[in-house]
Amino acid sequence: MVIRLKQLYNIVGERISLDYSVSGDKLNEVKGFTFSSPLTIKGMASNRAGIVSLKYSAEFTLHICCDRCLIEFDRDYCFDFEHILVRSLNNSDDSDEYIVTENDELDMDELALSDCLLSLPSKMLCREDCKGLCPKCGADLNQGECNCGDQIG
Ligand SMILES: [Zn+2]
Ligand SMILES: [Zn+2]
Repeated sequence: MVIRLKQLYNIVGERISLDYSVSGDKLNEVKGFTFSSPLTIKGMASNRAGIVSLKYSAEFTLHICCDRCLIEFDRDYCFDFEHILVRSLNNSDDSDEYIVTENDELDMDELALSDCLLSLPSKMLCREDCKGLCPKCGADLNQGECNCGDQIG
């Protein structure tokens, strides 16, 4: 969804509420991640005293393969984000917080996807202390010790 921001930039007190889902090709095209639900976006963009802020939450479910034990599972995520929208950036502005919009438009889907992906951990584990697979016999060590240890010892 592309949000048109012209009114929002021009009129103090103006707001645009967001409540929609991204699904289908946009999610299928995301490399390295499998979504098992739509990406639901809820929030508000508002002009307060001439400053346009965007606050929203993003909810989605990923189908994940644990990096250590290879078990597959679904995990729900919910993140909150906040940005300041600007037409152009002064050198002094912190560019992480500020989003520069072009032609007074914001591609909300793209922003939400990149916000979410940046919030995910680099390693996906079924649980923090996942023991993984035995490098020798491939047994899932979460299910208990394998017999390799005995033979080596
Ligand atoms: Zn695991
Ligand atoms: Zn083993």
